[in-house]
Amino acid sequence: MTDGFAIYVHVPFCRRKCRYCDFYSRPPGAGELDQFVDALADEASARPRAGRVDTIYFGGGTPSLLGARRLAVILDELRRLYEIAGDAEITVEMNPQDVTPELAAGCLDAGFNRASVGVQSVFAEELGFLGRLHRPSDGPRAVEILREAGITEIGIDLIYGLPRQTPAMAEERVRLAVESCRPAHVSAYQLTYSENTPLWSELELGRIRRHEEHDEFGLFRSVHRTLRGLDYPAYEVSNFSLRDEHRSRHNSRYWQHLPYVGLGPSAHSFRPPVRSWNVADLDKYLAARTAGESPLDDSEELTDEQLAAEAVMLALRTTDGLDLDAFRERFGNDLAGERAEQISHAESEGLLVMADGRLRPTLAGLAVADRLAVELC
Ligand code: SF4
Repeated sequence: MTDGFAIYVHVPFCRRKCRYCDFYSRPPGAGELDQFVDALADEASARPRAGRVDTIYFGGGTPSLLGARRLAVILDELRRLYEIAGDAEITVEMNPQDVTPELAAGCLDAGFNRASVGVQSVFAEELGFLGRLHRPSDGPRAVEILREAGITEIGIDLIYGLPRQTPAMAEERVRLAVESCRPAHVSAYQLTYSENTPLWSELELGRIRRHEEHDEFGLFRSVHRTLRGLDYPAYEVSNFSLRDEHRSRHNSRYWQHLPYVGLGPSAHSFRPPVRSWNVADLDKYLAARTAGESPLDDSEELTDEQLAAEAVMLALRTTDGLDLDAFRERFGNDLAGERAEQISHAESEGLLVMADGRLRPTLAGLAVADRLAVELC
């Protein structure tokens, strides 16, 4: 285990909500972009600062809406406050329509060395269905601009499993997006329906239908096989990289159950055994700063059982799987002995493989990682 930690910055702005999205964000009001930057700096300076920062991730929302100057101000402030490793991975999420040569060059100058671009699809009808504002050509163009500016660690986000999509369509769509962008990293998420989103309402009204579980697995398998065939093997349920060194170090820390500090509205922090989270409301976040108060909403102290269950659940989402010796050292549990029956059942179903002291999910196991974890805990 590394002794450093990660910083996540939640940028709570989007031009318009996408129809599937339940992350906290809203369009910025007059002056709010700058007010947010100031409030974030205040929040960062009030946080404990022990230890070295290994990764920083600006997510959201739409960090690219802040523009290079504000992004640089925040990153400089974090540098002033924290000890940041010389080789820290520093990622910024970008929406394709925001990416210009100026933004790309400004982010590189500021110290960002990785970009994650919300391509989602290169098909107009899919982007329209999802409520995205960009055109099919904007994603590949954004990746090209970033690459030309000198940012080579580029990931793209894709969404598959839209209503009526077949495994063959998913293959075609993912293939075309990846071949048009040739990124170092791909995150491919199966469409999910969250309450309080327009897509959820359409589902409730019967205007669209979600896939049956069996069909969802067919889509999942098709996307995994397609990406593997394109030289992007999975290392997590929804994450794929050209080579191991292109894996997201920041997100890998989450799956390894390591500590992180979250800044900004709705951001979560994890300092085992405590998880805490900020108010998911920009007005309250800004008001807390004006009042000189913390934007913390609440926190919970997790029991050893809860922490162990989380560690198993997160590890089984990755192809590296669960290191049984490290688990025993951390929690004092001999999982292989205590859950021998469940493990051998999962092995016989072709969901898990035990090798080299690790429990690793197969492709079928990755598809049901959360259920597998419940059975093992
Ligand atoms: S751009 Fe991203 S964060 Fe913003 S609404 Fe769309 S999916 Fe959500």
